[in-house]
Amino acid sequence: MYCINCGVKLADSEKRCPLCAVTVFHPELDRPEGEALYPPHHNPAPQVSSRGLQIVLTTAFLLPLLITLLCDLQINGLVTWSGYVVGALIVGYVALVLPIWFRRPNPVIFVPCFFVAVGLYLLYINLATGGSWFMSFAFPVVGGIGLILTAVVALLRYVRRGKLYIIGGAAAALGAFMPLTEYLIYITFQRPRFVGWSLYPLTALVLLGGMLIFLAIHRPARETMERKFFI
Ligand SMILES: [Zn+2]
Repeated sequence: MYCINCGVKLADSEKRCPLCAVTVFHPELDRPEGEALYPPHHNPAPQVSSRGLQIVLTTAFLLPLLITLLCDLQINGLVTWSGYVVGALIVGYVALVLPIWFRRPNPVIFVPCFFVAVGLYLLYINLATGGSWFMSFAFPVVGGIGLILTAVVALLRYVRRGKLYIIGGAAAALGAFMPLTEYLIYITFQRPRFVGWSLYPLTALVLLGGMLIFLAIHRPARETMERKFFI
């Protein structure tokens, strides 16, 4: 027998390694319940500074933004088409670069930030094009999906158990949201008739959500699925 920690040769009677005091392990011998096999190993996560990446990515977004704005102002004397580009760049920045500013990115903060940015961008497009679809369509749809996804990331982060309930519930909620979306499109854009296409995603999402909740309740089925998909 050899010590699993330092490799020293051990007598069969030894319970602990005489050199490093690690409990002797032999696969054929019983081990006391709850006793650790290895000595505690402290491996602090290396502190990687992301400051450089933040600056490079911020510049990568800021440079085209300023160039677009200056070109537009030079040509037209006011913000015309550059407003859309600037808005899209800001939404992209909030989605891709903002999380890097946090040491431990918390989706409960930046998921709603992203939806607020998308909402403001759509409001800008609506105002710039003289549309009237923001309040009756874009705001409730972006707001609704934003609320559902924020609730999901918050629950997944702060509730330790019941992931399947959370994801299943979210799928069903998104499904239920579909007919509302179709209705908002119908009244906002004055469609000739109500088609009912939303019933397909509604059915699919509610079935998916129901299946996940069934797996959450039904333990044998869940274990079979876990074995099948190696999770
Ligand atoms: Zn040892």
